[in-house]
Amino acid sequence: VKIGFIGLGIMGKPMALNLAKAGHALRVYDVRPEPIGVLAAAGAAAAASPADAARGAELVITMVQNSPQVREAVLGPAGVAEGIAPGALYVDMSSIAPAASREIAAALAAKGVAMLDAPVSGGEPKAVAGTLAIMAGGAPEDFERAKPVFAAMGSSAVLCGGVGAGNVVKLANQVIVAVNIAAMSEAFVLAAKAGVDPGRVYDAIKGGLAGSAVLDAKAPKVLAGDYRPGFRIDLHIKDLKNALETARDSGAPLPLAASVLEMMEALSAEGKGAEDHGGLIQRYERLGGVLARAGRAERA
Ligand code: NAD
Repeated sequence: VKIGFIGLGIMGKPMALNLAKAGHALRVYDVRPEPIGVLAAAGAAAAASPADAARGAELVITMVQNSPQVREAVLGPAGVAEGIAPGALYVDMSSIAPAASREIAAALAAKGVAMLDAPVSGGEPKAVAGTLAIMAGGAPEDFERAKPVFAAMGSSAVLCGGVGAGNVVKLANQVIVAVNIAAMSEAFVLAAKAGVDPGRVYDAIKGGLAGSAVLDAKAPKVLAGDYRPGFRIDLHIKDLKNALETARDSGAPLPLAASVLEMMEALSAEGKGAEDHGGLIQRYERLGGVLARAGRAERA
């Protein structure tokens, strides 16, 4: 398939590399030149703008930060909308507000271009491995067209409803992840304060009911004090804000997600927004006056 790919960051770069490896013909673009070079070395053509990346493509993918960046790349000057052919399919894989997905889909429909929103879960390791979980919204026939392309990037792709549904599911995912990280942080600080090594907490409970994919992905790093991203706190703030905005629009209460958002905002204000979201534990450590690291306990 001839694919235009826009946005080659932590996620987009390995996703595009997997598409190239699977034999798809790629034209790639990012506002930063560095990752374009990496893709060119893997056989992709370098494009000069999103419109240029979209030219001649059967399917165009964006993987940028949030709604404003998707709007800019698609509807802005030299955007995808200027280069994409009627009948081609546009797939936004960024995590953005569902309402923005629906707006962008309506603007493209006027040009005869169909859209799927298809955000992902799994983070950088699964982007590299090509085993992302893909949650899509759009028409079933468009989802069928995208499936062979999704297969090179993910190990599952589920159609969740019309355009915007993929991002609703992604927000649900981000609420679950955020609240899990907060619960883990609270529990590790409790153990450290009560005189038990938090590393033992993880070892002892990971196979029980409290065990989870979030715990397995985040506990080993957090227990070593390693907050390199991964998934940056500022991106999780973006997702929780989109979740709260969507909750306001639909009348859903999100008391726990709202509380985690406040803690993440405080960390970001301290200059920690570029750290991994596992760094949330630092808020709890400060509240408790203790470091919750493997091998440490306050009272033994
Ligand atoms: P990132 O900031 O590393 O990458 C975004 C890329 O988009 C950057 O390279 C940036 O230069 C480029 N970009 C921005 N505006 C552009 C424009 N107008 N035209 C062309 N390129 C543009 O972010 P990321 O971590 O790769 O995340 C991308 C999306 O995937 C986000 O919506 C994020 O929430 C979501 N996501 C991230 C993870 C993760 O673990 N990092 C996991 C799942 C989903």
